[in-house]
Amino acid sequence: MLRDSHGRVATDLRVSLTDRCNLRCTYCMPAEGLAWLQAQSVLTDEEVVRLVRIAVEHLGVREVRFTGGEPLLRPGLRDIVEAVAGLRHRPEIALTTNAVGLEKLAEPLHHAGLDRINVSLDTLDPETFHRLTRRHRHTDVLAGLAAADAVGMAPIKVNSVLTRGINDQEGPELLRWCLARGYELRFIEQMPLDGDRSWNRANMVTADEILERLQAEFSLSPQPEAVRGSAPAQTWLVDGGPARVGVIASVTAPFCHACDRTRLTADGQVRACLFSHKESDLRGPLRSGGTDEEIAALWRTAMWGKQAGGGIGDVAFEQPARSMSAIGG
Ligand code: SAM
Ligand code: SF4
Repeated sequence: MLRDSHGRVATDLRVSLTDRCNLRCTYCMPAEGLAWLQAQSVLTDEEVVRLVRIAVEHLGVREVRFTGGEPLLRPGLRDIVEAVAGLRHRPEIALTTNAVGLEKLAEPLHHAGLDRINVSLDTLDPETFHRLTRRHRHTDVLAGLAAADAVGMAPIKVNSVLTRGINDQEGPELLRWCLARGYELRFIEQMPLDGDRSWNRANMVTADEILERLQAEFSLSPQPEAVRGSAPAQTWLVDGGPARVGVIASVTAPFCHACDRTRLTADGQVRACLFSHKESDLRGPLRSGGTDEEIAALWRTAMWGKQAGGGIGDVAFEQPARSMSAIGG
């Protein structure tokens, strides 16, 4: 198992399949993009599947989520999903995506074994979408969401990040829109992981503010901690349920004590935490003939050293060198 020295066990693996993206969300990437990984340093499809297999067969991982950058840009995504779905102890397979291009890929991915999907959508207004993402792809995102729904992927979760002065008033409208379609909406507080390094706490839209605006229009009843388990989102029943809305208060109420995540970057580095300054290389050992057991042992060691928390509130907090799109959110 992937235990750490603070008593937590990681069973949820996030795999970044690429650091590239077709959007440039202001809270994630700079307008000009980043220095992309060289092709030879990115894990091949076979290497990704082998590491996932080791995590599942040797290390107790039960859920695998593919992310990025934008994972739909990875040409081998369908094959990777299919191979992971064929593993002996099949994990739950999920995807976090901006949904650009999902219109065509939803059916093949679902068929290959993708169980669940989270689509990032911050606004219902195409112009606001352009301000936030610096691209005119709002129609593609809506078409991608509709396609995922049409092929029967369920539940569909929508992730929204609010930015002050741009879409911070849109919470209730986003919730109404998701409720009408049966999608589960979760708001995520902005974290200091942006490529521009311009995050600041004073300007961040907090969970309390988000909830206050929602409560002006909806009746929200908190679900008990037991329902939450190790999920980072705290959830509320909307107007008596069964529909729910979630808020991930990563900054104002971090949930590090129950974190069950382990992360793999597109270039084969284990990160124990989003905010780690340390990475542990698995690509080198993988390419130089390491056995499954040797690689599993390196992964265990990397996780044992996991920090107790992200430390955003600490005076000495420093943003990690890699930003969100390069880590895999
Ligand atoms: N490109 C895909 C997408 O946008 O869904 C997958 C990768 S993206 C990094 C994963 C999630 O991280 C998205 O829901 C995005 O909104 C969120 N995200 C990106 N930067 C963030 C930040 N600085 N703080 C909080 N969430 C962030
Ligand atoms: Fe791309 Fe996702 Fe980052 Fe937006 S949040 S720039 S879609 S990786």
